[in-house]
Amino acid sequence: MSEKTPEEIIKEMQLVANQMVQDDLDENPDCANEFFDCDCCGKNKCIAGSIQYGMYRLCNDCVLIAETGFALNKFKDIQNLIDAMEDKRLEELCSFIKEEETRQKSFDN
Ligand SMILES: [Zn+2]
Repeated sequence: MSEKTPEEIIKEMQLVANQMVQDDLDENPDCANEFFDCDCCGKNKCIAGSIQYGMYRLCNDCVLIAETGFALNKFKDIQNLIDAMEDKRLEELCSFIKEEETRQKSFDN
């Protein structure tokens, strides 16, 4: 059973997401220059660290949101995430992650 706090889960997911970018770049350095349109945020993003979920390809930023959201039981599957993204219902979760990132950076400095 998980006894982790949301902060710990976010921290863990950030490490995992960063590692996915690193792994992709290690495996294929050329992918640093390959871009695609993310199916979730709609932005043109680097393919490194992106993941294909069923019919959707998500950029690394959205992968972080997706995996964190799954871990925190904010949504059940990727369709939930896509729908939520469209409705901007995710803003709360996104700002939560951003706050956590800011907090960590202030620790690092
Ligand atoms: Zn995205």
